[in-house]
Amino acid sequence: MMKKKGSRVVAALALAGVLFSIQGMTAFAGTVGVGAAKSEMTGPGMTNSQSAGPVTEVQVGERAEEQVAGGQEASQAQDGREQAQQPAAAQSQEPAQLQEPLQVFYSAFLFGQGWSSVTPDNSPCAAPPTTWVTAMKANLVNIPGGNQVGIRYQVNLSGSGWLDWAYDGAEIGNPAGEMPLEAIRMELTGNQAASYDLYYKVLQNGSWTEWAVNGGTAGVEAAGLRVDGIRASVTAKGAGAPPETAAAYAIDPARPMIALTFDDGPRAAVTSRILDSLQANGGRATFFMVGSNVNANGSVIQRMAAQGCEVANHTHDHKYISKLNADGIVSQIVSTNQKIAAQCGISPVIMRPPGGYVDADSLAVLQTLGMPAIMWSIDTRDWQHRNAQKTIDTVLSQVKDGDIILMHDIYTTTADAAEVLIPALTARGYQLVTVSELAASRGGMAPGHKYSQFR
Ligand code: ZN
Repeated sequence: MMKKKGSRVVAALALAGVLFSIQGMTAFAGTVGVGAAKSEMTGPGMTNSQSAGPVTEVQVGERAEEQVAGGQEASQAQDGREQAQQPAAAQSQEPAQLQEPLQVFYSAFLFGQGWSSVTPDNSPCAAPPTTWVTAMKANLVNIPGGNQVGIRYQVNLSGSGWLDWAYDGAEIGNPAGEMPLEAIRMELTGNQAASYDLYYKVLQNGSWTEWAVNGGTAGVEAAGLRVDGIRASVTAKGAGAPPETAAAYAIDPARPMIALTFDDGPRAAVTSRILDSLQANGGRATFFMVGSNVNANGSVIQRMAAQGCEVANHTHDHKYISKLNADGIVSQIVSTNQKIAAQCGISPVIMRPPGGYVDADSLAVLQTLGMPAIMWSIDTRDWQHRNAQKTIDTVLSQVKDGDIILMHDIYTTTADAAEVLIPALTARGYQLVTVSELAASRGGMAPGHKYSQFR
């Protein structure tokens, strides 16, 4: 179960790296067949307030000192053994290679915001509470060589009824208007279509519909209901509905939500207490881990994944990526992803630059890796004052919908604070979601861009 879920995520990361390389980034180009991926679907499609324009190197606030987490010596020793045993594999920086499954990627046009970022197979593409979907587009990626398979889709546009089918990445709906979609239909085309099932659902009236499949209607038309999100997935014929991942956790896009984030760990004695509190309160968090801490903390990382928390990348050695060359950044990110995936089956899809240092060049490298840079909107400075009450007061006095909160799961005082904050924030009505869940609920995110909140 875990393994299957994980492999899907790994596949999505590998595909994202390839997909976003089409536009001139060549890091992984040519290592995986991308079939008929449409370049028009690969643009940043930014709707968030952050952009990848010239970025001056300066968000300090994250722990500025170098990595000192407990257990580092042990994990370094383990690193040494690992490299001695399998130097070729350990040093390879190519993404895992393979027969990737056929997948569908898609975007929604959000009224007043524009196109969402490209959403990978089986991930929710949902509008924030203030807007809705007026158009969509979808395309297949990783089409098997020689196979003939495509995708078409049609929408029921409020006031216009069902529009004609659109094919393979073309837009359908009315991006220039404000009328919402009411329902959608999707199906595969071509000689090989019968080898697959195409599942899809829409977010409507605050919840996701059941899966529709192979041309059936998703959404209730002519009932005054609008489409607020789209989710789709290709599966092998007869394999059944795709696994519930993010949607397994009932996230209400109309209610406030925030992302608690913990950097520099794991450190079992601290991280486990945070996981206990999350489990007791039905919340999730995101852990930006340094690769050097991973091997010594496998069971904690497996528990993160099992609880639906997001495993995320904070470089292997807490390096300031704006001071590294491209090879150095790739090495720091890829080695950490590989170590995390080896522990829990899930390869991170987001990273946080240590110290908050990121610039246009390092963002360009992150784009080739398919990763966005995640900053924060509330800085607890827990690493500096090591005072639980200050951390608690900082969060509770500032918190608002869409915030990303920065803490560090290597200090006992941070666990003390989290044990108060997690129930307190839940009691205030905040859904404690992962960064990727928050982004998916608020228009998405794109590789090579940086984000400090999702309003
Ligand atoms: Zn850090």
